[in-house]
Amino acid sequence: MDWFFKNFLIVFLSVFINFELLANEKIKVVTTFTIISDITKNITGDAADVVSITKPGAEIHGYQPTPKDLVKAYDADLIFWNGMNLELWFEQFFSGLNDDILSIIVSEGIDNINIKSGDYLGKPNPHAWMGLNEALIYIDNIVNALSKYDNKNAELYSKNAYQYKQKIISTIEPLKKKILNIPLKHRWLVTCEGAFSYLARDLSLQELYIWPMNADEVGTPKQIKNVIDKIAENEIPTIFCESTVTQTPAKQIAKETGINFGGILYVDSLSDKNGPVPTYLDLLRSTYETVEKGLNYSK
Ligand SMILES: [Zn+2]
Repeated sequence: MDWFFKNFLIVFLSVFINFELLANEKIKVVTTFTIISDITKNITGDAADVVSITKPGAEIHGYQPTPKDLVKAYDADLIFWNGMNLELWFEQFFSGLNDDILSIIVSEGIDNINIKSGDYLGKPNPHAWMGLNEALIYIDNIVNALSKYDNKNAELYSKNAYQYKQKIISTIEPLKKKILNIPLKHRWLVTCEGAFSYLARDLSLQELYIWPMNADEVGTPKQIKNVIDKIAENEIPTIFCESTVTQTPAKQIAKETGINFGGILYVDSLSDKNGPVPTYLDLLRSTYETVEKGLNYSK
């Protein structure tokens, strides 16, 4: 083999091998919190690497990113975030990353419910993934973004997404029916953060909360008094509280009013894999079941 041909072959082979490697390389998706991460994993299966910046159990509104989080995200292809004023830390974090990473707001196109009090008055309530139609929109947005970026797996993504949507609907519908059978006067959802506007709408529940957003002041005497007064005016059986915040004000209200403390609702964060809600589907199931049990409570 002459010198020229040998070198030509080496260059050709190495370009070919690199091309093959690139073609087989998985895309990397980084998400701001565990729920978006789990939804995405259900769509990608093993076809992509998916990681969440905030860990299971974390408070996600006012999170303080660490240098490790920057390392986690620096080689991402796509970053999925909720937007709607949820991740107050995200834009600054994103500005510290590589310019060619695409940032996608997965709540795009949602018909938002606005916040009724506090510092975020009139702004969209960001917890839209707790509404059933909205959850399906999140899935569509995620599939579209993945398929555009990683076209070779588009068919797989849309097949997985279809099955996942069916699973969510068939899990939620029977639980929803049970709650819609509870007498109207008991259908109050009293929580710590006002994170359940979309869920309350789906279940025809009246919403009452101690504070409107975790990013606001939480558990002030005025907020507590407002909830105690409303409990006294109505036949409210139970108060609940979310997993990522202090339970103290809710327990204090339960004690002062004599109503039931109905336990923990999961909304902003999954638990780790040994906890009660390692997946988004578990989170929905657990929250629906806890609400149903709490509202059917009688002394
Ligand atoms: Zn929240």
